[in-house]
Amino acid sequence: MQSDLKKIHSSITHKFKNAWEALEENDKKYVFDFSDEYKSFLDKGKTERECVKEIVTLAKAQGFKSLEEIIKNKEKIKEGMKVYAVNREKAVVLFVIGKDKIEKGMNILGTHIDSPRLDLKPFPLYEDGELALLKTHYYGGIKKYQWASLPLSLHGVIFKKSGERVDIVIGEEEDDPVFFITDLLPHLAKDQAAKKLADAITGEGLNIIIGNIPLGDKDIKEKVKFNVMKILNEKYGIEEDDFTVAEIEIVPSGKARDVGLDRSMIAAYGHDDRVCSFAALKSIFEIEKTEKTCVAMFMDKEEVGSMGNTGMQSRFFENVLAELIALQSEAYSDLLVRRALSNSKILSGDVGAGFDPNFPDVHDKRNAPYVGKGVILVKYTGAKGKAGSNDANAEFLSEVRRIFNENDVIWQIGELGKVDQGGGGTIAYILANYGADVVDCGVPVLSMHAPYELISKVDLYMTYKAYKSFLKG
Ligand code: MN
Ligand code: MN
Repeated sequence: MQSDLKKIHSSITHKFKNAWEALEENDKKYVFDFSDEYKSFLDKGKTERECVKEIVTLAKAQGFKSLEEIIKNKEKIKEGMKVYAVNREKAVVLFVIGKDKIEKGMNILGTHIDSPRLDLKPFPLYEDGELALLKTHYYGGIKKYQWASLPLSLHGVIFKKSGERVDIVIGEEEDDPVFFITDLLPHLAKDQAAKKLADAITGEGLNIIIGNIPLGDKDIKEKVKFNVMKILNEKYGIEEDDFTVAEIEIVPSGKARDVGLDRSMIAAYGHDDRVCSFAALKSIFEIEKTEKTCVAMFMDKEEVGSMGNTGMQSRFFENVLAELIALQSEAYSDLLVRRALSNSKILSGDVGAGFDPNFPDVHDKRNAPYVGKGVILVKYTGAKGKAGSNDANAEFLSEVRRIFNENDVIWQIGELGKVDQGGGGTIAYILANYGADVVDCGVPVLSMHAPYELISKVDLYMTYKAYKSFLKG
């Protein structure tokens, strides 16, 4: 009797597993090697442009061909063909063409490669207090106080008047200089300490120190600023008003690092959402022959609402799809594009907020994802009464669960914080607008949107495993 109940108990109750405990010894080594590869991906791609460059390099090595070239050469789209399409160096989509026509629907992984950061203002350089500084405008949801007192690097692109382009990365090499935003010394921080956390350092206070040595005689005003401009001019040939047509991003300097004596985790800038991007990239590289066309998307501007011509709300993906369908079909019809999209199944690959023992009160412990318990399925995001959320259908969730279980994916369910605590969203709802089935699915993160975020290596691995099995269907 007692043993019968035990059997029934274990078959009808559920406990989400620890993913580390579920690993075989061989898998463990793979998890660490895979993570090393991910760290080098992070170090090479600290901006969306750098990520696109790295993704295209890796994709080409896997046999992916540019859509532009395919169109130019009037090639037909065939089963097994690997195609990539880049949008303005800031977003990229990879396809592995399936045996079925594209209109039958695709298996899609949708991720983003932009991360919260500071952007230089259009006219940034000034001098104050014997220092040269750069004014910034923050991008995405940051806690401003976190960006003071840490080494920063400059990444971006500037155009000279001649139209010549200059790519800049300063502050990543060992012997590079870095840049710095000051915070107030505690001795004089009486007023600051009494402020609300969000007001302690203001947006207009995020000014980056870039120099201190003056140049020139008494006829020259703002000599420190002049010296900085002169260094930039000598090194890159740029002038002050070239900043007005530049895109320069300020990110934390330095490389991704292992965390913990057991080296189980990774601290790095930009896990959100490059961790899902990397898992998606490695997954689509595993696809050779497939019934359905497989897609991995790496989009820009998610952190600011997916607007603009490189965000998910742009027509880029639809346009690329239309091109592919035109190459595949005898007679192109818009209807085929619509069918392709509405017949598709999508994992919206984005990070989730892991349970943080330092801040337990913001989570519902029973519905929070945990670092180390594998990939998260998030049925809905949004705020308050699920406002702004893509609420995935039970039918689709059940299909995804079946796929994960059949492929030994250790997964967990996750809500973004407890009810009415706040909220957030991903690109899921935009993809769902096409009529596709979409659910959020990604890696739990601690310290999300901080200059350094934290993930567990096993969750990255399980996300990769989940994505791969989803693409294979
Ligand atoms: Mn994200
Ligand atoms: Mn984010």
